[in-house]
Amino acid sequence: MKIAVVTMGCRSNQAESAQIEAGLLRLGHSLANASEQADICVLNTCTVTAKADAQCRRMIRKAVNAGQRVIVTGCSAEMNRARLLQVFPEIELFGNDDKQNIINVIGRSSKILHEIITPPTRHRPVVKVQDGCDNFCSYCIVPYARGRSRSRSMHEVVSEVAELESMGFNEIVLSGIHLGMYGQDTGGHTDLPQLLKELLVKTKIPRIRLSSLEVNEINDEFLEVLSEERICNHLHLPLQSGHDAILKAMNRRYTSRDYEACLLSIRNRSPDICLGSDVIVGFPGENDASFNESESFIERLPLSYLHVFPYSRREGTPAAKMSGQIQETIKKERSQRLRQAGAVMRKDFIRSQAGKIETALVESVRLGECCATTGNYIKVIFESRERLIKGSLVTVRLDEGFSDYCRAHVANGR
Ligand code: SF4
Repeated sequence: MKIAVVTMGCRSNQAESAQIEAGLLRLGHSLANASEQADICVLNTCTVTAKADAQCRRMIRKAVNAGQRVIVTGCSAEMNRARLLQVFPEIELFGNDDKQNIINVIGRSSKILHEIITPPTRHRPVVKVQDGCDNFCSYCIVPYARGRSRSRSMHEVVSEVAELESMGFNEIVLSGIHLGMYGQDTGGHTDLPQLLKELLVKTKIPRIRLSSLEVNEINDEFLEVLSEERICNHLHLPLQSGHDAILKAMNRRYTSRDYEACLLSIRNRSPDICLGSDVIVGFPGENDASFNESESFIERLPLSYLHVFPYSRREGTPAAKMSGQIQETIKKERSQRLRQAGAVMRKDFIRSQAGKIETALVESVRLGECCATTGNYIKVIFESRERLIKGSLVTVRLDEGFSDYCRAHVANGR
């Protein structure tokens, strides 16, 4: 069978889709690329915004109209089960906890088994170490769709990373719905710094990148591990708002001052680290004054990039019932302002790195020109006379920074 696995949303979904793809390959199926017609379409969906739900319905409709067998899973399937089955009675629907069962339901192909266990096209596999979240930020539907935080055992994570290492991968991304909660459900037996130490000792994977973390999860022990060369010099620390009353209404567990102090201490320890953030604009009650305050606060932070999201009202969350909902046109205007601020941060950070030597993971090679990403998350473009392969590591010197990439040259031997 030719099967298309389509993934929307977060890195946890990406990791779970990769496991489904690996399982299907093991059973002798092949994976359809974007231009091929598949027999079965597996849609791994997201419900984080109303837009994500709408995209999910569009993709289901398209696959149903194409006559494919359609299997839908993920958070949108979990939260909108009854509605989806009513509109699309022909689909098969699996909740998040039942996601990996899709492999068994599709079953074995009559063709020979493949040896491959992870699709070879991905050069930076995502390793999911944790699922669920206990935070219940007032705008977020995820804890309802994914449940409470549950961690995988250290042993299981180490084995998966060792397997990826033996397959030749040079970088993995550790991810979870709430990565910083790793281990909290084990009664204090382990946590993220312990897991990282274990991975550094028990595997030789050259690079470990971390997905999102909360500032109140960053402590000295974590910063100590972060200084290890094999841990990528890159952190993504969502802020969501730079105004304390809005942060409180969001049920975020830090103040703007805590956030700034954390960022400054990381930046002081590690001047070249890439620090990214998420911000939600147009949260209920965010008036012009609180937005302006938030904007000036964000502009003075030592950030390297910003992801800006207009607030999306999700039924079933406390924020959906709050007064002071903001008009879409205002959200759009505020998003544009912050995205411009984010573009300036990105450019300034990239330019500040000119002259530095970094190790970069090769992502594409075309006519002798390579595109790669450094440990501190800068896209570099360089020419190479050597035949570099995707997924390999190369040492480069960053020459000239532009708005979203750096021109570089190979600096093996420095
Ligand atoms: S930390 Fe907040 S925003 Fe992140 S998944 Fe949990 S509830 Fe949602």
